[in-house]
Amino acid sequence: MRTTVPPPEPHRQGRTRAVAAAVAVTVLCTGSLAACGQEAKGGSRYQPDAGKGGTVGLAMPTKSSERWIADGQNMAKQFRKAGYKADLQFGDDKVENQVAQVENMIAKGHRLLVIAAIDGAALTDVLQRAADAKIPVIAYDRLILGTENVDYYASFDNERVGELQGTYLAEKLGLKDDKSEKANVEFFAGSPDDNNTKYFWDGAMKVLRPYMDSGQLTVRSKQTKMSQATTLRWDGGTAQKRMDDLLSKNYGSDRIDGVLSPYDGISIGVISALKSAGYGTGDKPYPVVTGQDAELASVKSIIRGQQTQTVFKDTRKLAKQAVRMSDAVLQGKKPKVNNTKDYDNGKKVVPSFLLDPVSVDKSNTELLVETGYYAEGQLK
Ligand code: BGC
Repeated sequence: MRTTVPPPEPHRQGRTRAVAAAVAVTVLCTGSLAACGQEAKGGSRYQPDAGKGGTVGLAMPTKSSERWIADGQNMAKQFRKAGYKADLQFGDDKVENQVAQVENMIAKGHRLLVIAAIDGAALTDVLQRAADAKIPVIAYDRLILGTENVDYYASFDNERVGELQGTYLAEKLGLKDDKSEKANVEFFAGSPDDNNTKYFWDGAMKVLRPYMDSGQLTVRSKQTKMSQATTLRWDGGTAQKRMDDLLSKNYGSDRIDGVLSPYDGISIGVISALKSAGYGTGDKPYPVVTGQDAELASVKSIIRGQQTQTVFKDTRKLAKQAVRMSDAVLQGKKPKVNNTKDYDNGKKVVPSFLLDPVSVDKSNTELLVETGYYAEGQLK
């Protein structure tokens, strides 16, 4: 995964620095631990009153996609179980709503904020207010950009998500096994203001670019840059319009064989456009269409043979991770992380915990039932 951070310092130098920092902390913190803040014990810049209780603010982006409802509800449930109250808000995909909701959470004196940003770069001012009020912040699934005032990041390995989509497309189109195999594809990307978008795109392109270079893959629209393929706010209707346009302008009598779609809601829009253009019949089967989130409508579409693939990210696990991190911070402890180099938000490298995404197609949808993500009856 790409990183913009400088290479690590030699081990000895790093150790020397760490020791020096520890000495400085010891020298400065001769009084109570509280006076030393979290740096000494928890690694956070804040000094929350350690212990259980109080309210945690959960700012989710939208209810228009099932995943965020599940994320929010799972977290609220788990926070309550862990001894906190939860204030769960959805921003209706409007930046100003989310900013107002976070402001409100700060005004109410919530102890910690978990935020899945609508626009990753639009929270700088409001998070300065959170920092002034000594409220720690966890970025949930989407990194918050351009601010020092984000403590931790819980997400999935976002580049891996793109790799899974790209690999699936390449394999299903037979490009890997047969170098003479050729296919027409089009690319969709996520919302330009979501930091994840470029990770998904880069992961997919790492796999697909060599096939474009070798001439096995053709993008007839020539829209091969991420900036040409983005979909504001991940909107399915916007994707449908773009797909209508791509098909009518570039695929007269030629068929399209694959569509890189980064999210199930976009895939649904793409498939509607394909259907209007006569795909989905014996003569003209649907192309390979990827996706993400294993949303119910898309899993059903996969079972019906319309959408081909999705990437399952178990929101229960992510919620659990975010709650674990938050609880540690609130207890004045240092949360466990597994990545301290890849998520540079422009102001700092945010310590992260990344979970593994899983590719799902018709052959393994039962995984979603086995893990209890869906009940069997829901997939019928
Ligand atoms: C998430 C994806 C989701 C997309 C649209 C991204 O930030 O990582 O899981 O499909 O937003 O909601």
